[in-house]
Amino acid sequence: MSAVGEQQRIQILELTDKGDGIGRLDAVPLYVEGALPGEEVEVTLTLVKPNYLHGRLDKVVTASPDRVADFCAHSECGGCQVRPLAYPAQLEYKRELVRRALTQQGLVVEVEPVLGMQSPFAWRNKAQFAVRATDEGAEIGFYRKHSHDLVACDDCAVQDPLHGELLARLRHWMREHEVRPYDEANHEGDLRHVMTRKGFASGEWMLVLVTRTEQLPAEAELLAALEGLPITTVVHNIHPEPGNRVLGLTNRVLSGEGIITDRLHDLEFVISPLSFYQVNPVQTDTLYGKALEFAGLTGSETVFDLYCGIGTISLFLARQAARVVGIELVPEAIEDARRNAERNGIGNTEFHVGKAEEKVAELYHAGERADVVVIDPPRKGCDKALLDTLVAMAPERLVYVSCHPQSLARDLAWLTARGFVLEAVQPVDMFPHTLHVEAVARLRRA
Ligand code: SAH
Repeated sequence: MSAVGEQQRIQILELTDKGDGIGRLDAVPLYVEGALPGEEVEVTLTLVKPNYLHGRLDKVVTASPDRVADFCAHSECGGCQVRPLAYPAQLEYKRELVRRALTQQGLVVEVEPVLGMQSPFAWRNKAQFAVRATDEGAEIGFYRKHSHDLVACDDCAVQDPLHGELLARLRHWMREHEVRPYDEANHEGDLRHVMTRKGFASGEWMLVLVTRTEQLPAEAELLAALEGLPITTVVHNIHPEPGNRVLGLTNRVLSGEGIITDRLHDLEFVISPLSFYQVNPVQTDTLYGKALEFAGLTGSETVFDLYCGIGTISLFLARQAARVVGIELVPEAIEDARRNAERNGIGNTEFHVGKAEEKVAELYHAGERADVVVIDPPRKGCDKALLDTLVAMAPERLVYVSCHPQSLARDLAWLTARGFVLEAVQPVDMFPHTLHVEAVARLRRA
């Protein structure tokens, strides 16, 4: 029987869904964070259970040919979990994650090779930083892995380089004007989070400061501190409730219009602070291109775009369809969607606020029918009620865009057992170096 603290040398066999290397010690699975398949590694056991073990990686004895030099000096943030893998190997691993999820649900389909990026750095257009008190004073950064302690990370490789200067200025402003950082344990203090968003095509920046309290301390001094930076709009968001959600529901515009615009392909979009917008605009183009191709439109169709956000996919669909109906939960996003349709001179769309599971049922019972349905739900996937309505409505084609292979596989299994045929699955790498995989699936009515 092994014991905690014991040193072992093992062979790593594969990567788990969480990105950890897995090997075997006397037939018992041993998980090692940071170890890659094919590697021989030395580890110290950190957890010993009857049917599994955890080890800390001490030394890579024989490195995998896919191991690359670390590009990050802040690995404690826990964000880029598959960073030790060369990018092509990351893509192959993500394809395998999608395959595994589908196979577990008994689905048989060829998973296409993952469509990756040419340069997988500085790809994010959105960052969320927490604010906390530390021994050095108010700090701004990412959470340390598995905790809410902060890791300052001003030069994150997947974020825009502007953050270096921006965070330095915000830190200075907080410390100079004694802005009270949020204290999570006692639900006290003022500044909780800072969010940024950049329009890659427009170059516009939004900065959102989230406070627990109604007042933003040292407001004039904040705007002065930002002088000279290319920030298009500054928004104060008020979030008085405890909990992990980053943004509250109330916004006050401090400078600019409270929105930024961005262009995807040849369409222009207005984005407000509470609206969802894909975080990797380069790959969004690829993703939407696939969704559009899978929709197979000829110009005569009625299309439902469910979980439509600010109507991005809807507007691309609308140019190839007779009519598009978008449905989305967040009212601000629907306001953006309507503005976006108008801004782009697209007149054959209509947008509804509500839960997809309720709105689609309402429309269906009122006699509405879609020829093609596009769905792009959050990680938890679709509500069963929505899937049942889709089964009843039986559109010719269904395009499922998903950021979570497990919920995708579960929903696809439900749909394929009830009159749909799964024809294709195309993963797209929206989140390089992380464990996240996006995939688009095409189904047709049987
Ligand atoms: N298709 C959009 C948004 C996808 S993200 C795009 O590509 O930009 C998922 C969206 O679903 C978010 O905007 C979220 O607000 C919305 N949402 C979450 N639960 C929902 C529900 N039950 N019904 C409708 N929309 C929902």
